[in-house]
Amino acid sequence: MGLALAISAELTGVTDLHPVDSADTPYTYSFTVQCTSCREIHPNAVEVTAWESHELSGSRGEANFVWRCRACRRESSASFKMVAKQPTPPTMYTAEDSGKWKNVVEFDVRGLEFTDFQVTGEWTCKSTENTTVFSEVDLEPGEWFDYDEKAGQEVMITDVKWQIRNC
Ligand SMILES: [Zn+2]
Repeated sequence: MGLALAISAELTGVTDLHPVDSADTPYTYSFTVQCTSCREIHPNAVEVTAWESHELSGSRGEANFVWRCRACRRESSASFKMVAKQPTPPTMYTAEDSGKWKNVVEFDVRGLEFTDFQVTGEWTCKSTENTTVFSEVDLEPGEWFDYDEKAGQEVMITDVKWQIRNC
């Protein structure tokens, strides 16, 4: 089954919003997880990165996230969708996307569902007017404000919403 993390936001003066995510600085996605067999919801958020893999039991290969339900003991897993054997990089959210839902990352999941996303860590975006890059964008408060010195204008990301949906 495919699940996507989608974002909707209003971008003013900035574009190409995405998490800072590379082998050197892996981005950690923090989700609430639910077992699809017994519907148990894990009380603590779990962390998933594209840069780590874990073995599945019984030599069934690897996944980016492997989880065993405490209630029914069933093992489940999630992996970032791959392109050319690499995890697909996060999709950029552009100024033109403002107000619309767009998938950031997509997962193949088995036996679990992500039910909620808690944004943490650093995101990045750039000016729509010049080459200025904003590299420490914190979306945790649901909005972000800065000043574009070269353009002489305030820039902002507001009305940040998250959704997990089928894909
Ligand atoms: Zn379970």
